[in-house]
Amino acid sequence: MKRIVILGGGESGVGAAVLAKVKGFDLFLSDFGTISPKYRAMLDEYQIPWEDGHHTEEQILNADEVIKSPGIPPTAPIIQKIAAKNIPVISEIEFAGRYTDAKMVCITGSNGKTTTTLLTYHILRDAGINVGLAGNVGRSLAYQVATEHHDVYVIELSSFQLENMYKFKANVAVMMNITPDHLDRYDYKMQNYVMAKFRIINNMTSSDAIIYWQDDPVINAQLQKISTEAHLYPFAEHSHGGSAAFVDDEEELIFNTPETSMKMPRADLALNGLHNLFNSMAAGLSACLLDVNKEDIRKSLSDFAGVEHRLEYVETVDGVRYINDSKATNVNSCWYALESMPKSKNTVLILGGKDKGNDYSEIKPLVEERVKTIVAMGKDNEKIVKFFSGVVPVIDTHSLKDAIKACRESSTEGDIVLLSPCCASFDLFRSYEDRGEQFKEEVRNLKKEI
Ligand code: ADP
Repeated sequence: MKRIVILGGGESGVGAAVLAKVKGFDLFLSDFGTISPKYRAMLDEYQIPWEDGHHTEEQILNADEVIKSPGIPPTAPIIQKIAAKNIPVISEIEFAGRYTDAKMVCITGSNGKTTTTLLTYHILRDAGINVGLAGNVGRSLAYQVATEHHDVYVIELSSFQLENMYKFKANVAVMMNITPDHLDRYDYKMQNYVMAKFRIINNMTSSDAIIYWQDDPVINAQLQKISTEAHLYPFAEHSHGGSAAFVDDEEELIFNTPETSMKMPRADLALNGLHNLFNSMAAGLSACLLDVNKEDIRKSLSDFAGVEHRLEYVETVDGVRYINDSKATNVNSCWYALESMPKSKNTVLILGGKDKGNDYSEIKPLVEERVKTIVAMGKDNEKIVKFFSGVVPVIDTHSLKDAIKACRESSTEGDIVLLSPCCASFDLFRSYEDRGEQFKEEVRNLKKEI
């Protein structure tokens, strides 16, 4: 019997383990960290042998195939030992793809993945399609393949997940944009990151579709270099050269695919800002390609409730609006947040956290135009303080409490306080969600104090 070893006991690893169990493999799951009680219980329920806190090499290096959770870097010592023994390493998505013939709508990009994935799922589900939500957001694909039936899956794929995918095929692949992110994982080489993202279009045939942002220089350059049989459906703010979605001179959002031609007023979109126009275009095009009817697409694009921690309005305190964009963990997502702020210089911007090799020049012009003060919030703010001093006033803080205090002191009625930090959260917080939650709580406390 083939032996499968699964590394990582989180949502993805445990899902893969359940599927491997259901398919009758000899299997073992190992996690170097601590497996949470929820996942321990699932492993025990399915009688899956597991360990945590260490890796027992004799139990791992005898595998025929290893399924690796996306969070484990290829440089981890155990992965190197597995590679030295030429044991194939695949991802949970690759494994799950072997056991389903559901249509796969796969979404990647540096920014906008979760929003576009949830919006696409919302349209398909409300149109009555039997659809599952999987990948980075939602539950494990493998777990759903093992225990449920869906006709379509909408899957958010990060570059980490794409790394170990080989034969998997998407029916619709969406590439939102590619800007520098996670370069620490890619030897600080942008091309390595681009190649990982482009794995999303591997194995596509002439009956498949690639949806992508037409004005992205990185995607365009890479598309020139490769060949694909899949049909291309580019979207752009303004139509040029075969755009399948764009906004016309009357501010109507147009969708144009061989099967569907439809329009709706841009102003009817539930999500605001240029970045969300792109997210709405990508989700709408995916729905057109899955033959969802026009009325359903229009309705769902206009009644979507939005996603927490993404330009989320929190509260107005003393006439100052507080906005939580904690998910802005790279410079480009902060660019889009600033792009949707007023042109007057009335935004107080909270920046900082764990720097992933950031270059702040991209946001400098918008900061000059729209930001009155930067409040740096992190363990080590030196890079931010150095870069922006002389551009706008920068206040150096090392805790959320001090940051909010500084924001309050530097804002007056009519201003906006925007948490859009450009950085990962792990220096002061557990996660970006934790950072966003704590921010919201502090802001609500301010409101109570009044
Ligand atoms: P991801 O899942 O790729 O991290 P999210 O949908 O969670 O993307 O959005 C992350 C952040 O990126 C948000 O805070 C928002 O400000 C910004 N953003 C959302 N969509 C886009 C887009 N299409 N292009 C650029 N930035 C975006």
